[in-house]
Amino acid sequence: MKIHEYHRPDSLEHAYTLLQQDKHNALIGGGGWLKLSKITMEKAIDLAALDLDYIKEDSNAIRIGSMTTLATMDNHFLFDTFYSGMLKDAIHGVMGVELRNIVTLGGTIMGKYPFSDILTPLITLDCELEFYKEGVLPLTDFLNRKTRVNDILVELRIKKHKGTGYFKKIAKTALDFAILNVAVTYSEGLYKIAVGSRPGRAKLALNAMQSLYESNTPDFKKAATKACEELTFGTTHRSSETYRKDLAMEYISRGLKAVTPYED
Ligand SMILES: Cc1cc2nc3c(=O)[nH]c(=O)nc-3n(C[C@H](O)[C@H](O)[C@H](O)COP(=O)(O)OP(=O)(O)OC[C@H]3O[C@@H](n4cnc5c(N)ncnc54)[C@H](O)[C@@H]3O)c2cc1C
Repeated sequence: MKIHEYHRPDSLEHAYTLLQQDKHNALIGGGGWLKLSKITMEKAIDLAALDLDYIKEDSNAIRIGSMTTLATMDNHFLFDTFYSGMLKDAIHGVMGVELRNIVTLGGTIMGKYPFSDILTPLITLDCELEFYKEGVLPLTDFLNRKTRVNDILVELRIKKHKGTGYFKKIAKTALDFAILNVAVTYSEGLYKIAVGSRPGRAKLALNAMQSLYESNTPDFKKAATKACEELTFGTTHRSSETYRKDLAMEYISRGLKAVTPYED
């Protein structure tokens, strides 16, 4: 990473104006991922002075500012029980505390990283993004969008539905990127299943979710098989396609069992 000029604007408007001036100007969140890249920035626009480091809740949603680090989220009581602590489990999969003290939720979302352990659980929740100029966009629409959003992500809003959640990252070592990650949630009669690092980006298994919704006596093995049929898996130096599929089969089934409300 090379930076020609460093800017630390004190208003969103100023940051946005700087961003639009030149396609070689770029925003910095925690800077963790940018530091690993070969990018040359004409103007690096640091968002640190914009008060975007917060976690708040209102009656409908949890609102997380884009400059909030993963460590701040990890330390916040709201995520202890929200969907069985699934987001905390996912955060614990991201390297160590030192890195989680630096990297931000905004950089995590805007990067759309296929290996992300955070996007996988987030897409099973009811999430929307607020951009400075573009306004509000559902997270899944943003992730599916092919064109780049040249705007500042202000905050993520997670609707406060009640539910249970499960997250599993499978990696060769504790500090490695995921071979596969799986998130499963259950809320108000609906199951959601997401698989990331396939090695493609996290996706919902919509057919499997629909089949569970339509069935009176859900068959978890059948649903896991359906999910593995509709999602694509691939081979990389980390793992073969077959192994990824086998892992997905097993951990989707376990996730479905884990989130299902227990009846006496
Ligand atoms: C060594 C290392 C190991 C990692 N391991 C894992 C792992 O195991 N699992 C995992 O899930 N993740 C992992 N990550 C990714 C990490 O969790 C973050 O997702 C990533 O570093 C991006 O966050 P950042 O704050 O560093 O973003 P930055 O590097 O600052 O920015 C990333 C991108 O987002 C843009 N951006 C940042 N903030 C905003 C904003 N508010 N609005 C608009 N655009 C913005 C930047 O311009 C840039 O294009 C790892 C990262 C590193 C550096």
